[in-house]
Amino acid sequence: MSEMTISGRYPEAIVSMPRSGIRVVMDLAWELGDVLHLEVGEPDFPTPDPVVEAAVAAARGGFTKYTPNTGILPLREALVAKLAHANGIVATPDRIVVTSGAVAALACTLLATVPTGSDVLLPDPGWPNYAMQLHLMDARPVYYPLRVENGFEPDLDELATLLTPRTRAILVNSPSNPIGSVWRAETVRAMVNFALDHDLVLISDEVYEHIVFEGEHVSPAAFAPREAPIVSIYSFSKTYAMTGWRVGYAVAPPPLNELLARLQEPTVSCSCSISQYAALAALALDPSIIEAMVSAYRQRRDVAYAILSERGVRAFRPQGAFYMWVDISRGGRPSYDFARSLIAETRVAVAPGAAFGPGGDHWIRISLANSLEVLEAGCTRIADFLNR
Ligand code: PLP
Repeated sequence: MSEMTISGRYPEAIVSMPRSGIRVVMDLAWELGDVLHLEVGEPDFPTPDPVVEAAVAAARGGFTKYTPNTGILPLREALVAKLAHANGIVATPDRIVVTSGAVAALACTLLATVPTGSDVLLPDPGWPNYAMQLHLMDARPVYYPLRVENGFEPDLDELATLLTPRTRAILVNSPSNPIGSVWRAETVRAMVNFALDHDLVLISDEVYEHIVFEGEHVSPAAFAPREAPIVSIYSFSKTYAMTGWRVGYAVAPPPLNELLARLQEPTVSCSCSISQYAALAALALDPSIIEAMVSAYRQRRDVAYAILSERGVRAFRPQGAFYMWVDISRGGRPSYDFARSLIAETRVAVAPGAAFGPGGDHWIRISLANSLEVLEAGCTRIADFLNR
């Protein structure tokens, strides 16, 4: 159905919601076939066996029914311990809402904190789904730039100039998708103070918290009083290679925890029961299983970075997550054009930088969630294409 036929008949916010630019390239890639997929943002590792076994046992054991809206208690209790030791956050089970992936935690958080017509500060570049969700809520994204000359960290003075009387929340994402930057503790602390000083809800997307190569991931909520309006959002998708299981969670103080819990019933009721038992098993995994995946991403980062820089292509050497942000400005064309020509001529699919916000138009994002062979071939073709 074309937009013409549905416009006016169905909610305008949905009809006019732009598609993710990454999907546009993915569609093209599937059409062409025989393509190296450097555009996809999910772990290429299988879900670890003990997690799969726990899910099978849960299903066979009859844990196949609705759970409480906020998730099963044993999982939330295990998350309290995880938050204390990994994030420095003192939580209680009632402050945690288990959701269908971090994407649902984000959607509920925005629904709960952003009245229609409000402004929300979003990182540019940043994950496109934030802006898509705001679009659905008739709220407005106001982008705060992350620039290469600042190590892709925000400029606090500039941030203050972007505030409007309607600004209600600020979203932060470190380690960052698409850049792979890990903000310094002092930057995180400054962002917390900025949010508190301006009476904003701070929404912290920490789904890549465990995929860190250099530096240290610090959680904003660890720097704030326990009652501060901060919603910290986490996921099992990336750390444990569990994208399809759909388990994430939000941690928030009252009354935000209560609002998030309330939103579960009409939207999803609860996260998948079997997946919640799988998530519980994931928390008990031997840390070496995660370390092995992180060290594979680090090795791929080093190989990809070396291939690009030896050929004179500038990229940001990521400190975390599993992406590399590659500068295409000397190709002289905007990122969508670049991505389309690259795939047509070299059969390498990448995510166009502009898909992540207006500041990304001279960049592309490549995914390190690929074998070394695919990365080597893909990066060589990208560099040759740019050097033509
Ligand atoms: N936040 C960021 C920055 C992401 O990159 C993603 C997935 O790509 C998500 C959230 C969503 O994760 P989940 O699979 O838990 O919904």
